[in-house]
Amino acid sequence: MAVNIAKFGGTSVANLNAMRSCARIVLDNADTRVVVVSAAAGVTNHLVTLANEELTDEQRSKVITDIETIERRILNDLGQPEEAATKLDELLGLLREQARHEELLFRPDLKDALLSLGERMSSLLFAELINQMGGQATNFDARRVIKTDSDYGQALPDIQLIAEQAETLLKPQLDKLVTVTQGFIGCDEFDNTTTLGRGGSDYTAALLAEALGAETCEIWTDVTGVYTTDPRITEKARPLPELSFEEAAEMATFGAKVLHPATMVPAVRRDIAVFVGSSREPEKGGTWIKRDCEHEPHYRAITRRRDQVLVTVKTPDMLYASGFLEQVFGILAQHGLSVDLVTTSEISVSLTIDNPPNSVRARINRDCIEDLRQISEVSVEEGFDLVTVVGNNMHSAAGVSAPIFDAISAVNLRLICYGANPHNISVLVHSGDSESVVQKLHGRLFEV
Ligand code: ADP
Ligand code: ASP
Ligand code: MG
Repeated sequence: MAVNIAKFGGTSVANLNAMRSCARIVLDNADTRVVVVSAAAGVTNHLVTLANEELTDEQRSKVITDIETIERRILNDLGQPEEAATKLDELLGLLREQARHEELLFRPDLKDALLSLGERMSSLLFAELINQMGGQATNFDARRVIKTDSDYGQALPDIQLIAEQAETLLKPQLDKLVTVTQGFIGCDEFDNTTTLGRGGSDYTAALLAEALGAETCEIWTDVTGVYTTDPRITEKARPLPELSFEEAAEMATFGAKVLHPATMVPAVRRDIAVFVGSSREPEKGGTWIKRDCEHEPHYRAITRRRDQVLVTVKTPDMLYASGFLEQVFGILAQHGLSVDLVTTSEISVSLTIDNPPNSVRARINRDCIEDLRQISEVSVEEGFDLVTVVGNNMHSAAGVSAPIFDAISAVNLRLICYGANPHNISVLVHSGDSESVVQKLHGRLFEV
């Protein structure tokens, strides 16, 4: 039996109408045995607000009501089926209770438990819809299979355990039922709920595809495929019919939100073709991401990653010294921060760190900076975006960088990264400049 995993993102399951289109996609392909759903659009952002912000009782109640309204509207449009209504009531009860937990703001484990509710509610409702439309679906708790470490907010999946759990719990039901499960969430060895990082449902779909030996994994979203750049930045962006694993991985890492950064990792390991398309307009086709592409152009796409912080550490001791970088990276690791770009000079090192406001994860903070100050002078500059041109053989062919730098010659480039890998050239620019940088590069590289 050929197996396909279909994942539907937040806007695709935002309301019953949108969900119907998704259910049709599922029912039209007999190979689609597992469905992974995100929380309905907006719900995870609301949950992050509850988990991270100090709110008054009134503010908290308002956010809870907003979530409840989204979920109850879908239930209502489904005709208030009794069993689903009871289960939704239970989940909303958990929401009210967990959102008011006294230690919520300080306990990453409690945050993840709260964040999991969005996916748990939408998967419940989606399974009900498939059954109403004539399919045979079961709502399955992803935490039974997606086993992770305890790095709450950005948990690391245990590939071996996931394979074992999928083998015993999911495989036997594949030919009988459509399994509807939650993206984004997992479970650690203490039976605590974990999450895989914002946008993590794509990753769940790829992990399940790997564990079940699926042939294909479909990511259904609100755009008709992966584009030359984010279509919200320029209307000239166009969908790409095909992409290689490397190109897609690079795009995801460097900010193409359409794919969670880790999505391609399981796909590469098991050579699983990944499709990206629009759940609203499935007939328009989309992008196939696979091992080998017919063409390997120098320039394939442009991505932007927002909210970058530039940290520069400087010490005369670095001259001729060894071990300084190790100390710097050690401190950042202790604070749970990962570094993206690095440039060094004789006595200083500059690095960029992701700092998105909606993250569940650690962000750079005063304690970390204080620790760095113990070993060096530190400067922290905020308000940058990283713009990356993704392509092929960029470091080995002559003249590849010329049109890029020519197109943006008037812009202040705060940092440039080139040559570490054949698939990208990245520049760090002030946030206010990034949109026009992407547009200029797009004009030069893709609109000729
Ligand atoms: P979902 O909720 O379905 O997971 P996301 O919002 O996470 O959807 O991702 C889809 C969005 O990704 C699109 O609406 C688009 O604005 C953005 N995006 C960024 N870069 C690209 C790109 N290169 N191609 C297509 N979409 C992109
Ligand atoms: N609901 C989660 C988020 O908004 C995961 C996802 O949508 O992929 O980040
Ligand atoms: Mg997403």
